[in-house]
Amino acid sequence: MHELSIAMQIVEIVEEEARKHDSAQVSAVHLEIGTLSGVEPDALKFAMEEAVRHSMAAKADIFYHFIEAVAVCEECCHEFKTQDYFKVCPYCNSINTGFLKGKELKIKSIDIQTN
Ligand SMILES: [Zn+2]
Repeated sequence: MHELSIAMQIVEIVEEEARKHDSAQVSAVHLEIGTLSGVEPDALKFAMEEAVRHSMAAKADIFYHFIEAVAVCEECCHEFKTQDYFKVCPYCNSINTGFLKGKELKIKSIDIQTN
């Protein structure tokens, strides 16, 4: 499953970070997930539960911050919200558009408990 390998990568990064801080306990992990990141939120939540189970983040609260996709038009420079990968500028109908955000899938922050 796509989401499970993502979740395992996330846990790996979290554990690496915790080790740097000489800590065995991660108290919280904040994830940022763009609505167009290609990840199914429920599947990712399920996968994260599995992935953290025997890790240093086993007791961590996982927070999911969803980011609405925003595109920008290269022609008229307007920004607009979108739910599509193929987007047309609603102001000038140009297809020359790019994403500002919404495709990210990343760890925003990790709360580590220090003894
Ligand atoms: Zn435009």
